[in-house]
Amino acid sequence: MDGATTPTTTPILILLGPPGAGKGTQARKLEEGFGLIQLSTGDLLRAAVKDGTEAGRAAEAVMKAGGLVSDDIVLAILTDRLAQEDCARGVVLDGFPRTTAQAEALDAMLAERGQGIRAVISLEVDDEAMVKRVSGRFTCGTCGEGFHEEFKPTAITGVCDACGSRNMTRRADDNAETARSRLEAYTEQTAPLVAYYDARGTLARVDAMGDIDAIGAQINQIVSGA
Ligand code: AMP
Repeated sequence: MDGATTPTTTPILILLGPPGAGKGTQARKLEEGFGLIQLSTGDLLRAAVKDGTEAGRAAEAVMKAGGLVSDDIVLAILTDRLAQEDCARGVVLDGFPRTTAQAEALDAMLAERGQGIRAVISLEVDDEAMVKRVSGRFTCGTCGEGFHEEFKPTAITGVCDACGSRNMTRRADDNAETARSRLEAYTEQTAPLVAYYDARGTLARVDAMGDIDAIGAQINQIVSGA
């Protein structure tokens, strides 16, 4: 990342892909590898739901049904987070933008600040595999490590391999039925963003069906060269 291709000094990366494509996993790797801040609108919304804020109360039912929360709420939450000091280090956007309106709002926000998007990485996966991936996953509530019943089980049932905690959590929307609705929302409202960014010359496609570390290595190459 030498900053030669865009006017920004703050690296801004976007991970695009359907639910279960590995956006969160790869965003965490980028956070570790490049010192970027992972900015997940899903995480921010889940925190708002948990805290019972006005935005959280408005978003809760939509999230449970697997639909998309309104652009207004998501943009407000994202703008607040982006304004925090740590984001000046650079951010990896995970789960945002999800609609053309959000992408345009981000473009406008960055143009105002004289910043640009460093790279948009599209994680390309097979739709049906996604439902299976999403419905089997769980996370360590203490350290954030992700697991999967079939593809990445813990060595000892219920105990986190990374930190030893027994605090395993499962997202309320990680079930087969909601996963299908989330996939539909992706296909209808988010997939067009692949063409949106391709037309702007910022898109890189990565086959995201394989090994997590191999996918991470490909992403690192893209980010290092961008
Ligand atoms: P995620 O953690 O990215 O899978 O997001 C979980 C849920 O939060 C989604 O199914 C949506 O209901 C909501 N959500 C997250 N990000 C956005 C966004 N950028 N726009 C609209 N809804 C979002």
